[in-house]
Parts: sequence; C-alpha cells; structure tokens
Amino acid sequence: MKIIKTIAAMKNAREKLSGTVGFVPTMGYLHEGHMELVRRAKSENQRTIVSIFVNPAQFSPGEDLDSYPRDIPRDMEMLEKVEPDIVFIPSPRGMYPPRFNTWVDVEKVTEHMEGALRPGHFRGVATVCTKLFNIVQPTTAYFGQKDAQQVVTIRKMVADLNMNVEIAVIPTLREPDGLAMSSRNVYLKPDERRAACILYHALKLAEKLWAQGEKDAHRIRQAMIKLIEEEPLAEVIGYVSIAHAETLEELHEIKPPALVSLAVKIGKPRLIDNIVLE
Ligand code: AMP
Repeated sequence: MKIIKTIAAMKNAREKLSGTVGFVPTMGYLHEGHMELVRRAKSENQRTIVSIFVNPAQFSPGEDLDSYPRDIPRDMEMLEKVEPDIVFIPSPRGMYPPRFNTWVDVEKVTEHMEGALRPGHFRGVATVCTKLFNIVQPTTAYFGQKDAQQVVTIRKMVADLNMNVEIAVIPTLREPDGLAMSSRNVYLKPDERRAACILYHALKLAEKLWAQGEKDAHRIRQAMIKLIEEEPLAEVIGYVSIAHAETLEELHEIKPPALVSLAVKIGKPRLIDNIVLE
C-alpha cells in the first residue's frame, strides 16, 4: 500500500499502472461503509486507489469543515486490512492553489434536497470528482447509495461531459439498529445515538405503507414526519422527500423507482438517509 501526497506523484504512479483501476474517493475517518467500497473495487479491478481528502469546496460557510473528523493514522490502520494499491492524500492547497477559478456545476438534480439546504455543495462535489477523475483516471469509481443525490449528480456529470469512467454504487451499510454508517455519527452523544435510528424507522414506515398499497406521496411524507416528531431529540427536519429516482423531482403519486430520502438534525449533526422503492 503506497501513500501518495502530491498530484504530480499520483499522475506519475498512475501512468505506470496497467489494467483496470477501481477508485474510491472518500473524506476519510473511514468506517465499514468505506471498507465495503474498497473491497468491491478490489474484487472488480486489477488495481485499487483510495483517496482521502476533506474537500473544502463542498462545505458552505458555517458548516463543519474545521471540525470534520480527521485521523489519518486510524484510516491507514483500517486500510491496511483491505489493502488498496495506493492511498492518495492530496493537500487543500495542492487541489485548490491560489487563483483556482474553474468549477463544474450540474444543474437541476442539484436544486433539491441537500442542494437546497447546502448552496454550492454539489458544485464542490462535482468539481473535486472531476479533478480526482482527471488525476487518477479510474476505469470505475465507486460511490455509496448513502449519498443518493451525490450519485445522481455524478452520474449526470459523467454522462453530460462524456467522461471516461464507469460509476458503480454500493448499498448503504448500516449499524445493527439500522442507522446508516457515517463519519459524522461520531458527533452523536449516547442518547442522540439511540434516537438516530428514527431516520431508518421513518424510511421503513414509508416502505411499509407503500407495500400496503399507499400511492400518495404526500400521505407517506406526513406519516414519516409525524413519526420523527415523536422523537424529542430529532430537532429540525431538513426535508422529507419522495422523488423521482433520476430527476429528483418531488412526486405526487409514487411510481417506482422512487427515492425516499430525509435529513434530520439529531443534536449537532444533520443526518441523511434514503431508500429506493423499486
Ligand atoms: P465520505 O467519506 O463521507 O465522503 O464518503 C465516501 C464514500 O463512501 C461516498 O461514496 C459515500 O456515499 C460512501 N459511504 C458513506 N457512508 C456509507 C455507508 N454507510 N454505506 C455505503 N457507502 C457509504
């Protein structure tokens, strides 16, 4: 496992690799969800590259950029167990040197949900992924369904800009009580941690109502919101959305595949989760 910290060295190392390259971009503070992405990339490619970069461009002012959990030695220990070929850890200054002026803006699908709450977030995500794809030149890049709007945005960007990379998506890895694994779960205090499974329960409720024949998206959203409001530690509902799985436009009548997603503030962090009604 080789650690590379500059873009020039990464490009150089990439030139020497032959065969298929699987790429897993991350912001570090790794968990089992990230490990699953690496395992999948390894099983499908001759070489695997993981990046760790807390991308300043995807944080809005006032968000948790400075406090976002970082622990490279811990990440390395975890990665040693799955053994990617290269771990790329660029610096913010290397990725965004002074007078950096070029941005990738994916329209429409970024207007809803996370995009509406976090202005500029997906511009930062699309730009950093474009840069990382150009540097790493992967055959396939691996993303988690946990960040469903990110997947839709990256797929759209790759299609619209004719990028030479396949996008693969893995299902959301969850804790035993259903909470989606996330680096931000570390912010949760013990009682908040217990309350945090309300997101999963709300998603399961949506699935159950739909399986029972409910097609009215509004009624399902209302039932989800009611359930979340019963949890005293679930403070603010960012959104509860039932949307077309590709356009991300809100649905009145549910036609599968529909993306049910939500953002709920539990204590300090705002947690997100989703399921797809197939
Ligand atoms: P992050 O480090 O949070 O930017 O995440 C890096 C990649 O891991 C993204 O593609 C995420 O969607 C994915 N990911 C994060 N949490 C999970 C999870 N619980 N299950 C599967 N993939 C995940």
